[in-house]
Amino acid sequence: MLTIQRVWRLQEKLIKLVGTECTKCGYICYPPKAACPRCGSREVREIRLPREGKVVTYTILNVPVEGFESKVPLIIALVELGKARILTQLTDVEADKVYVGMPVEATIRKSPQMIEGATHYIIKFKPIEKQSSRQ
Ligand SMILES: [Zn+2]
Repeated sequence: MLTIQRVWRLQEKLIKLVGTECTKCGYICYPPKAACPRCGSREVREIRLPREGKVVTYTILNVPVEGFESKVPLIIALVELGKARILTQLTDVEADKVYVGMPVEATIRKSPQMIEGATHYIIKFKPIEKQSSRQ
């Protein structure tokens, strides 16, 4: 069984929100891309995105995707992380509790699918609890 400390260290290692920033137009892309999707420039540099941000907008999917029938409703949100905006899935929150401007932070969840026999982790976002127990 994983202790809280071990889970926390695992999260630190796995949550690497790396994107790319275009040095021509400043567009930030996540996941990282070799070329800027806005201006086409290949002059992009890797940047670390903040782990905390807020919900810009969201949608709730009640129609399951094949293989994820038990996962509805899925809450898909556009989350603002500093200057970047990323599309992600929210977790640990009821669909009717989500609101625009809600503070959220990155977390990891085990993927329901094994990839080549190995456990796979995916990054999701969860609400930031006001009385955080860490630190
Ligand atoms: Zn660009």
